[in-house]
Amino acid sequence: MKQKEIVMACICDYASQMRGKGYWTDKPDKALAGGVGLAPTNLMITTFGDILNTPWGAKGDLLMVPDMQTKVTLDLDTEKSREHFVLCDLKNLDGSAWECCPRDWLKRGLQKLQDEFGLSLKSAFEHEFHYSGANKKLGNAYGLDAMRLQGEFAHTLMNALEANGVAPEMFMPEYGEQQYEATCNASIGIESADRAIKLREITRSVARHFGEKATFSPIMQMGKVGNGVHLHYSLVDQNGNSQSYDPTKLHSMTNQMASFTAGILQTMPEFIALTASSVVSYDRLKPNRWSATYNNIANKNREASIRICPLPTIDDIDPYKRFNLEFRPADASANPYMVLGALVWSGIDGLKKNLKLPTLTEDNPEALSIDQQKALGVVRLPQSLDEALKKLEQSQLMKSSMGDLFHQAYIMHKKSELALLKGLNDDEVVSRYAQCY
Ligand code: GLU
Ligand code: MG
Repeated sequence: MKQKEIVMACICDYASQMRGKGYWTDKPDKALAGGVGLAPTNLMITTFGDILNTPWGAKGDLLMVPDMQTKVTLDLDTEKSREHFVLCDLKNLDGSAWECCPRDWLKRGLQKLQDEFGLSLKSAFEHEFHYSGANKKLGNAYGLDAMRLQGEFAHTLMNALEANGVAPEMFMPEYGEQQYEATCNASIGIESADRAIKLREITRSVARHFGEKATFSPIMQMGKVGNGVHLHYSLVDQNGNSQSYDPTKLHSMTNQMASFTAGILQTMPEFIALTASSVVSYDRLKPNRWSATYNNIANKNREASIRICPLPTIDDIDPYKRFNLEFRPADASANPYMVLGALVWSGIDGLKKNLKLPTLTEDNPEALSIDQQKALGVVRLPQSLDEALKKLEQSQLMKSSMGDLFHQAYIMHKKSELALLKGLNDDEVVSRYAQCY
């Protein structure tokens, strides 16, 4: 007899963990519009599973309301039941958005960008991860053999992503041993963050299907290659036409794209705890790691926080469609709604203030004197989660856009995470994160 199946209604929480509740897949969508109950304190479950502090205690109730457009079904094994999950918004019992919902924070920012500037954000997340099922071979970085040594995993993954609206673009062996990367095509607004969450979870699920594990933790071994999350972005109008590229302007960037980006650069040290959200994130954000260390922008440089991506001049490439910038100091310990939210809210601030793009850095900023760094307006990004949280605590922009309660709850959550790691050595910390991500 064919068994009935269940679908997990999930939220992506402050630790970027998917948590939720399951119900029968044959429950009508209409019945689900009423949502699934959840206690606000569930959001304070740290990535390690414990709750240390909470603003809500045992009180209150919320609704997880599924967005059926985001539903994922994985049909990986004809002998077994399929896996289903769906992403939810967090709402109050009267159906209004809950003030501490990460997805709603991003939605509010996107709406403001559209209402005040007529702009939408087009973006795509790239994810690096380690796949335990790949056989190791010396000298295999980016290798064709590294592709062979992961077996059937890549094909199964790319097909599962395709079947679930993630629009995968590339799968590639990365630099590190057992390290791979999956990318997807750009989409507009919230869909890009939804795709990022789906991609992580589908990758994990496909790895499990092969009896293996996909790990997105930013660092697998201190001092060794990191797993980055890079975000390519551009601005478009209501019809999806680029508002980013202007060949007559400096760096071929429209004034709006320049101001939006200047806003991101200016606020970056304050919001970095939202995009690099774990203790080990800060081992990745070190010089010579092809990640990012300063709030700088540079042309075709993979050590800049914002990289101006190359624009090939060969035929058939439409520069209006192709032109984009890449934000690099993010990783998978961060909630994708909060990564995009941080960019959108600080970009809006840049647009409002009509900020000018800072001078591009030519050399890596750590090679410059303090005076030279000052002249370029670049500062070292926080070097620990603790330092990043202090900056976030002081950030008026993040506080006002998130609202006091959400801002405080996120910081409280992350301080609990720090407290849970007290007294552990580096290897133990790395191992904890690798188990969770
Ligand atoms: N693995 C590097 C990171 O942590 C990025 C390498 C690349 O540019 O693809 O961000
Ligand atoms: Mg890469």
